[in-house]
Amino acid sequence: MLTETPLSNRRREPVRTCVACRLEAGKSGLVRIVRRADGSAAVDRTGHASGRGAYVHALEACIEIARKRRALERSLKAVVSPELWSEVIGSPG
Ligand SMILES: [Zn+2]
Repeated sequence: MLTETPLSNRRREPVRTCVACRLEAGKSGLVRIVRRADGSAAVDRTGHASGRGAYVHALEACIEIARKRRALERSLKAVVSPELWSEVIGSPG
């Protein structure tokens, strides 16, 4: 599923790193999780919410890794609820 991104594409789109697999991907291939003011984590569907953000692929494999390693919690210093993960899976793109 993961394919090499041609260099020409890489220049056009900001590249972010998935907290689970550590692979770089264009923003469109990742789901942004943002830390809200109350210290909880939320899926940022717009990609423009203010606050500290982290990125993860909307793939079960990556989500499982991120859950096990508590990668989002560590990256965002936020509380990640179980519901958030099902939201990530349900996010298109
Ligand atoms: Zn990933």
